[in-house]
Order: sequence, then structure tokens, then C-alpha cells
Amino acid sequence: MKKRSIKPTKAPAKKTSWDMKKWADRCAWCTKRIAGDDPAFGISISLRPEAFQEFDPGTVQPLLLFNVGKTIPMMVVKEDSPAKHAGKDAMFQACSEVCAKALQQALRDELGGSTADQ
Ligand SMILES: [Zn+2]
Repeated sequence: MKKRSIKPTKAPAKKTSWDMKKWADRCAWCTKRIAGDDPAFGISISLRPEAFQEFDPGTVQPLLLFNVGKTIPMMVVKEDSPAKHAGKDAMFQACSEVCAKALQQALRDELGGSTADQ
């Protein structure tokens, strides 16, 4: 594999990643704002190592779900987070059980059997 000298391997802000501030309190499915005291539903997934290498930990990455024609914010977990220790690589949050279920189903359709439970 050749080393490319023109392109820096680690840019300060990847233009492909989304703004964490914008998505930190929003439902990944319906983009509704999740109020602080509302129950948020979390879905965590494991990614294939080759897929995960492309993402910086602690960033939000757009994930295109072809089956439903939606792009949803995927939060890449940090190296030292509890989710990471549990073997998860990315998380999604939902505002309600309905959204969580729809999101989970879409992930299953898209990623096959690699998704896990909530
Ligand atoms: Zn929602």
C-alpha cells in the first residue's frame, strides 16, 4: 500500500463527520430533540473492524440506511467508554420506544446480523 503524502491522515475536523453538539440531544430516527428528563433509548452496535477504522472515536458519523432512505447520526464510542468495553463500537439514541424499534429494525435490515440488542 502506497503512502499518500498530499492528504493528511488525521485532519482536525473530518468533513464527513457531523456536529456532536447538534446531535447529542436528538433522536437518531426522527431527529426530535430529546429533553433532559425524557427517557432516551439507546441502541449500540458492533461494527466490522475494517469499517470502524474509518471513524474517529467520539465523533458523529452519518450512516446511510439504503433500505429506508434515511441518513442517521451514528455516535462512535470512545476507546475508554463502558460501551466500548462491552464490545460495542457505535451508538444511536432514540426519543421513544417506537423510534428505537424502528431504528433497530432498520439497522438489522441494513447491517444484517451484526446488530445487537439495546
Ligand atoms: Zn424519535
